[in-house]
Amino acid sequence: MTDEPTPAVKVALRLKPAVAPAAGREMPVTGPLVDVFGRVHTDLRLSVTDRCNLRCTYCLAEEGVVFRPRSEILSFEEIARVAAVAKSLGVTSVRLTGGEPLIRKGIVDLVAQVVDVGFEDVALTTNGTELTRLAPALAAAGLTRVNVSCDSLRPGRYAQIRRRGTLAPVLASMDAAEAAGLTPLKVNVVVIKGVNDDEVVDFAAFARDTGRIVRFIEFMPLDAEGAWDRDTVLATADLLATISARWPLVAVDPGGVDPAPAERYRFADGRGEIGVVASVTRPFCGTCNRLRLTADGAVRNCLFSDDELSVKEALREGDDEAVALVLRRAVWRKLPGHGINDPDFLRPARSMSMIGG
Ligand code: SAM
Repeated sequence: MTDEPTPAVKVALRLKPAVAPAAGREMPVTGPLVDVFGRVHTDLRLSVTDRCNLRCTYCLAEEGVVFRPRSEILSFEEIARVAAVAKSLGVTSVRLTGGEPLIRKGIVDLVAQVVDVGFEDVALTTNGTELTRLAPALAAAGLTRVNVSCDSLRPGRYAQIRRRGTLAPVLASMDAAEAAGLTPLKVNVVVIKGVNDDEVVDFAAFARDTGRIVRFIEFMPLDAEGAWDRDTVLATADLLATISARWPLVAVDPGGVDPAPAERYRFADGRGEIGVVASVTRPFCGTCNRLRLTADGAVRNCLFSDDELSVKEALREGDDEAVALVLRRAVWRKLPGHGINDPDFLRPARSMSMIGG
């Protein structure tokens, strides 16, 4: 950029300077959203609220959760504007998340606004508590599909993990989502040793019986109560061995370089598919193509990095060029990996729900 920056661009440039390794390298201001290592970013996670109606043990504290004041949360128009700018920079897929996205008032209107931007795929991750009620309207608004989080198929254990809410309505919400056409339906299962790791075969059976894609997610150091440690993580290799011993699995070749977080496996007998998100034991940072917008307007280039840039000033005082510049800068400064396995790894200050998983 050789010209004198416009006032709006100056707003964006007031933000934190780039950190190593991006420091000293010139950030491209045209073309796709690229980081200093050449990873092109095409997937945007939009957290639409930091509020949640559950208190899952691996995510939020049971009591005393402090949410951001509403005045700090981006409006629908602001979220849709970031989405539109991201699309102009090459983003093709969006996932709405939170907090619990379906408890944000007017969520269907927001979905419609994001859909109107024209992405190839607009998905949403939910705990399912409000999904039965909203599934038809979400589908009508153009939502492509949903992931429903459900970490146990045993009612008592489900209640223990979630601390609020019960299992039956969540299972019913999966039926409602499928009936509304929000498919393929994926079921997110956070696996924690000593908590629900004895259910992996049950969940594999569930995938086989229902045709839903169960995605086993390794427990990550993003829980508000700090209970995570390495011993609580069921390694994906062990999980796959357990399931394969019962029903052999075949890796699904994604074809080319696959930026998706989940490794896919199908059952060798053709009855269904599972996925594994092995962020801890098999990190996939090398092909990461994701950036995130928090509900309060911070752009994050990694779940595990506290290196956030606020897009709020650019949205409120600047033009789309300023918004684009914040997105570019946030991506450009991304580190090569999340560092969970480094000896000096520090847990991020915000928990998963506050970032937007
Ligand atoms: N409220 C919605 C839900 O429950 O799906 C969306 C937000 S939630 C933060 C998004 C996903 O993050 C869920 O699938 C949840 O299970 C997962 N998650 C939360 N904390 C996690 C952790 N510490 N490790 C791994 N996954 C986590």
